[in-house]
Amino acid sequence: MEEKTIQIAGSITVDELANALGLSVTELIGTLFKNGIVATINQRLDFETASIIIDELGLKNVKLEKKNTSTKTSNFHRELSDKAVLRPPVVAVMGHVDHGKTTLLDTLLHKKTVEGEAGGITQHISAYQLKHSDRIITFLDTPGHEAFAAIRQHGAMLTDIVVIVVAADDGVKPQTIEAINFAKSANAKIIVAINKIDREGADINRTMADLAQQGLQPEEWGGDIVMVPISAKQNQNLDKLLDMILLTADIEELKADIDIPAEGLVIESHMETGKGSVVNLLVTGGELKTSEFIVAGSTYGKIRTMLDWQGKPKGKATPSTPVTITGFKDLPNFGDRFTEAKDEKTARKMALLNAQAAADESASANVTSTDLLRMMNVVDNTKTFNVIVKGDVLGSVTSVVDSLKLIDTKGEITLNIVSTGVGDINENDVYMAAGENTVIYGFNVSVPINISKMAARDNVPIRTYKVIYELLDDAKHEMENLLDAEIVEEDKGELKVLGVFRTEKTNIIAGGEVLTGDVKPEYLARIIHDKKYLGEAEVTSVQKEKIDTKELVAGETGGLALKTTSKIDLQVGDRLKFFTRETKKRTL
Ligand code: GDP
Repeated sequence: MEEKTIQIAGSITVDELANALGLSVTELIGTLFKNGIVATINQRLDFETASIIIDELGLKNVKLEKKNTSTKTSNFHRELSDKAVLRPPVVAVMGHVDHGKTTLLDTLLHKKTVEGEAGGITQHISAYQLKHSDRIITFLDTPGHEAFAAIRQHGAMLTDIVVIVVAADDGVKPQTIEAINFAKSANAKIIVAINKIDREGADINRTMADLAQQGLQPEEWGGDIVMVPISAKQNQNLDKLLDMILLTADIEELKADIDIPAEGLVIESHMETGKGSVVNLLVTGGELKTSEFIVAGSTYGKIRTMLDWQGKPKGKATPSTPVTITGFKDLPNFGDRFTEAKDEKTARKMALLNAQAAADESASANVTSTDLLRMMNVVDNTKTFNVIVKGDVLGSVTSVVDSLKLIDTKGEITLNIVSTGVGDINENDVYMAAGENTVIYGFNVSVPINISKMAARDNVPIRTYKVIYELLDDAKHEMENLLDAEIVEEDKGELKVLGVFRTEKTNIIAGGEVLTGDVKPEYLARIIHDKKYLGEAEVTSVQKEKIDTKELVAGETGGLALKTTSKIDLQVGDRLKFFTRETKKRTL
């Protein structure tokens, strides 16, 4: 049989799938129906559902393939032309909390910008530029964790160099390791700034040894990582650090094309009254000018105003330049790629296409494989455990989420990650969690007092941990609580009814002979009449020769008081089969 490959971009309609398979629509709808899905011709099926249906149809010659629709990433690793020109390096400063990232950036800003200007910056800026040896260096603000998230998401190399700040009196700490991992995953060059060398207790060699253990071999020891001892606070050796950044940039030959339509990444966006959307962009290629049309994700606009990072009007922005613009019709998302469009019509069309691609990629499939499996009774009664995960850095959020996903829930619980984020637990997290039985997990983050009050009021559980295993244990425990308890029954014995002394409503007093096993108060009994099950009863007391006793064993006769849930007409000759029932909490 001829092999056939069908590409699915996110989801496929019933009509499209039938066409691709060479089946009639009714035939396909029929198969879906047999599998519990009532579908219409325009219904969208996700990739997994389509695979299952093809399997059901026994079409072994058909192969499904996921088609990548993401138009966002396609141009990012663009091949450079031979006309590409050098561009400033884009640098992110990362490191463990309190090791001096902010101080380093502050000192650099004061040192390298005209006095007064830096002091005048009050707005939050997401990137800025410094001049050193007459060359420009672009810094991404706030350790770049968010920028790294975007890089991961978009496969783009936004950051060229990561400066990892390590305090010489504290050495390598968890977030230092995170930073190293981030830099590696983003393919960025690493430069280490060994900070606080002015401090008593600073030990440069030990810090280097620590770093070597993490796979960063100092150049001085024959390795390939530049490590610069500095004091951010006392402005020591910062020129050397900047020299090293430029040197690394030279070795990397960082270039970009400028005679192409402008493109880059959205690094921050917010609404401002009177201005509309205010968006920070980092240009990565081409030259961005005011009055041009641009598209980012599903929104577009004409650049009304463009300012440099210090708030001064800028007519033209070249690669590696951060700018703040107004003019987008809606707020683009952080991490969206933007591109210049030749006119309004093109811009609108591109935005629309992006919106469609995004919709296709995410939730547009209205039948998911989980629905299907559930309908096919493969997944039965699954329960959902909703969580929100907040962490101090993206790396910790990722590892918490990854580890949560690894908990084996025996197919009975679906883990639903409602949202994740970096930073302290905030109002929004509580809003999202409220009403949906969601647990908020915080890893190495804190809960501001007003937030914990709000959570208590809304009954939202917040759990913060510093050790990942403890967090996972808690999650496991929560999931165990969701599992249906296991019911364990144990047969105990059988009695033949020899006399019925009283039956009223739900109370029965009867006598009989224990044939096998024993009977004790609190045992349960199944009442059997002529092999027919009549109902269940609870033994409330047992008597031997009219005196309450703890048990009757096989061969003995005695009386029983029984409690049933409904009236049962017990008769002589009926059998009582005794058993115990325990509900046992299940574990994962
Ligand atoms: P961040 O959390 O990494 O941004 O760290 P900060 O820049 O806020 O610095 C944490 C503390 O370390 C502050 O009290 C700084 O004044 C201090 N600090 C930062 N750099 C130095 C340094 O080079 N020498 C000394 N002695 N203290 C520093």
